[in-house]
Amino acid sequence: MTQLSTSTGERPIEPREEPGGKIDSAGHGAAAGTPAPFACWSCRGPVAVGEAFCATCKAVQPPGQLDHFVRLGLTRGFALDTAEIDRHYFQLQRQLHPDRFAMRGPRERALSQQQATSLNAAYETLKDPLARAGYLLRLSGIEVNAEGCNTLTDPVLLSEAMELREALADATDVASVDVIARRAQVDIDDCLTELAPAFRAGDLDRAGRLTTRLRYLTKLAEEARFHRLRRARTI
Ligand SMILES: [Zn+2]
Repeated sequence: MTQLSTSTGERPIEPREEPGGKIDSAGHGAAAGTPAPFACWSCRGPVAVGEAFCATCKAVQPPGQLDHFVRLGLTRGFALDTAEIDRHYFQLQRQLHPDRFAMRGPRERALSQQQATSLNAAYETLKDPLARAGYLLRLSGIEVNAEGCNTLTDPVLLSEAMELREALADATDVASVDVIARRAQVDIDDCLTELAPAFRAGDLDRAGRLTTRLRYLTKLAEEARFHRLRRARTI
């Protein structure tokens, strides 16, 4: 369960700075860029990056550090077709399902499990538009905070988020909760429509703002659903 912070004055604890001291970089941050092709652990044959199986001996390979788009065989971008994400995922999931490796050795069984875990993580991230937008930004080195509106720095977004939260808190009946929920849903749809062109144009500032807005609107819509259930029960 996520704990909701109610204070607006809290600041995250920042790491203490040592004068003249830098963060130890021993062994960290080495591998970046395109991973090189590697050798199959079983037959030493060549395995192309992103391939889950060795073409020579068919042994399942370690999942490696692929980005989620490469792992699912999808083109990197926001505008993804849900049916296509599903199709790629279920096809790979069938190939990598641990049950298929039940009769293999312990190493292949463990690798198939790792592959399945990585595949699920990729799918969970890419199928959800909000998670997908956040992930695309992270791939570009931009972190959109996962907290509520307390950490919003944009004054326009902050005032919108606070206004919506207050309206929800003041809503005393189901009808007024529904009005807020409908408004949130319209705004969510607007954000989703605008995100694809923003990412396509490489306008990361805009994509970041839209993602932040999408995040609190999504949270608000969830809260509205809870409110609605609670209001409906008390009638
Ligand atoms: Zn092999």
